[in-house]
Amino acid sequence: SDDCSTFQNLPNLWRTSLPNPDSSSHKYQRGYCVVFAAPALTGATRMAATAALRIGAGLVTVQAAQRGDIYRMTLPPEIMVQDDGEPVPDKATVLLGGPGGISPHHKRDLLRRSDLPRVIDSGALPDRPALLNGTVKTVLTPHEGEFETLFGPIGDDRRQAALQTAQRAQSIVVLKGPVTLIAHPDGRLIVNDRPDANLATAGTGDVLAGMIAGLIAQGMDVFYAAAAAVWMHSEAARRIGHGLIASDIIKALPNVLKTAA
Ligand code: AMP
Ligand code: MG
Repeated sequence: SDDCSTFQNLPNLWRTSLPNPDSSSHKYQRGYCVVFAAPALTGATRMAATAALRIGAGLVTVQAAQRGDIYRMTLPPEIMVQDDGEPVPDKATVLLGGPGGISPHHKRDLLRRSDLPRVIDSGALPDRPALLNGTVKTVLTPHEGEFETLFGPIGDDRRQAALQTAQRAQSIVVLKGPVTLIAHPDGRLIVNDRPDANLATAGTGDVLAGMIAGLIAQGMDVFYAAAAAVWMHSEAARRIGHGLIASDIIKALPNVLKTAA
């Protein structure tokens, strides 16, 4: 399946699409990421939201489904918190849900809202890809277990499985694993073939979802945003090495961004 629309994930592919703030930028021009909070695993939401901010989103708000006070006390002070029932801000440029879980009504809202680009991870993934039909401004980020539970067996051709689901969902599919695939419904496939087993630890997927959302918030093409985030995530892991915990990836981002740009 190595045809001409399969690409190695190298910065040359997407470097020129990376967001680049200029001297006239203000925060609203750098995008606004709204994160639907996990009801219980608050750490996952905190890491995803912080990663979105760190990769350059101008503003990040966490929509708490309950216990907004916990988020107010534990999030970095740069991140805003809304209580359940408050409307998604008009200036939002991307929605993110799923890391650490999501409340059922937030999941319904996120799956219905195709007017904004979306990053849909873990607990927010739809149980049928066709539920998302009609937009390619959506990125799904399943690991292999989530992919097989929701979308069916991967079989012996991971690339084909990712591409087929991307087509059914009319969405970008990031099929995570030691080798991560980024599939576009039009048949393009980007392969991130730089496994780093230090990433096999709690919370790294949540950080990745936030990084993708943070790039999309800034207006980056969704397919390239996914590829760039996956590359920077594995580049951070490579630099940190043994002893990596997920929060370290967030801290490494300013330096990784320098290399990527
Ligand atoms: P999640 O399963 O959602 O926490 O995501 C885990 C993240 O770590 C994904 O970005 C995977 O690609 C990456 N990952 C997990 N296990 C490995 C591994 N053994 N080697 C390299 N990357 C991994
Ligand atoms: Mg995960």
